[in-house]
Amino acid sequence: MKLRVKVDHETYSALKELEGEYREVLEEAINYGLSNKTTSFIRIKAGIYKTEREKYKDLPSHFIYTACEDASERLDSFEKLKKRGRAYTEKPSVRRVTIHLDDHLWRFSLDTISISTKRSRVLISPTFPKIFWRYYNKGWSIASEARFRLMKGNVVEFYVIFKRDVKPYEPEAFIPVDLNEDSVSVLVDGKPMLLETNTKRITLGYEYRREAITTGKPTKDREVRGKLKRLRERDKKVDVRRKLAKLIVIEAFESMSAIVLEDLPGRTPEHMKDVKDKQLRLRIYRAAFSSMKNAIIEKAREFGVPVILVNPSYTSSTCPIHGAKIVYRPDGGDAPRVGVCGKGKEKWHRDVVALYNLARRAGDVSPVPLGSKESHDPPTLSGWLRAKSLHSIMNEHKMIEMKV
Ligand SMILES: [Zn+2]
Repeated sequence: MKLRVKVDHETYSALKELEGEYREVLEEAINYGLSNKTTSFIRIKAGIYKTEREKYKDLPSHFIYTACEDASERLDSFEKLKKRGRAYTEKPSVRRVTIHLDDHLWRFSLDTISISTKRSRVLISPTFPKIFWRYYNKGWSIASEARFRLMKGNVVEFYVIFKRDVKPYEPEAFIPVDLNEDSVSVLVDGKPMLLETNTKRITLGYEYRREAITTGKPTKDREVRGKLKRLRERDKKVDVRRKLAKLIVIEAFESMSAIVLEDLPGRTPEHMKDVKDKQLRLRIYRAAFSSMKNAIIEKAREFGVPVILVNPSYTSSTCPIHGAKIVYRPDGGDAPRVGVCGKGKEKWHRDVVALYNLARRAGDVSPVPLGSKESHDPPTLSGWLRAKSLHSIMNEHKMIEMKV
């Protein structure tokens, strides 16, 4: 968030002098990175710290650190531009300087912000805009790193960063989540449900459309490229992921639960043998499993919801009640995804078995219902994208069932 502060001439000149030296250190750091072919902050700092420290004796030493960090960021983004063919200069040019500050170089209070300079600390007194108070009063805290830059007319633009620090709580219950190619299943309040994501179907569908567009035409063709771009495959998948992660995390947050996920392997699992193309198989795996898992973990972190990763082996082939093997017969039974427990002979849906086993492995000791309808025929829900919560989806489903 940007705070604009008008300062007196003396303060401005102290900051201006600081800016000059910071710029020189920054340029040295960039040159060092370029000639040593590195963008690493640690390597740049190790390379220039001593000489710069001697050159600028009264510059607080942490400015050398932050300038090295600044250089490392600039070199990184320059590399990226170069890779995309968008860099028009030989090296990153330092035109505007925004001075980076770490926790040693500035202090925040609601009256004044103090900044270290060459000789002493200077004080600036910003007036805070409404939006500042909105964050400040809602439990967000100010990060220890900040930046400022000097504008014309003795104006300082000071950037503070708000961050939310939420501590994970001690979970009182568990919400296991089982990821699949075309659906994600969850156990909410002990009730299983399957949310259709159609990730595999969507990915395959796009693959056919992509093929139809590119067959017999060079992929560099402008028209072809435009058509491919308009497919928006990624956007659609990201949208589904984000919404699903949010629904699950909010449910966990409100019931003080931990989310339980399979600690999935980095390689694609064997059961996707039906997709012959290796690239395509990987794309499906990433979208349905790795990226989905990461989206949930990231959202959970934002809300302070604990995530427990458990061993994924045999989660859908062992009975959570009898510990016996569940036999899935593709020919017999209602569906190949429904199996029969070798000991109790009760029926199980593959994804529901996985949910109970995941919860068990995370330490859940609550009883597993035996032979319930939901265990082998869980509600499968498709229109959840616009739902406000998992509970509202469940209630809606119940209403429909009652009407039937
Ligand atoms: Zn059993």
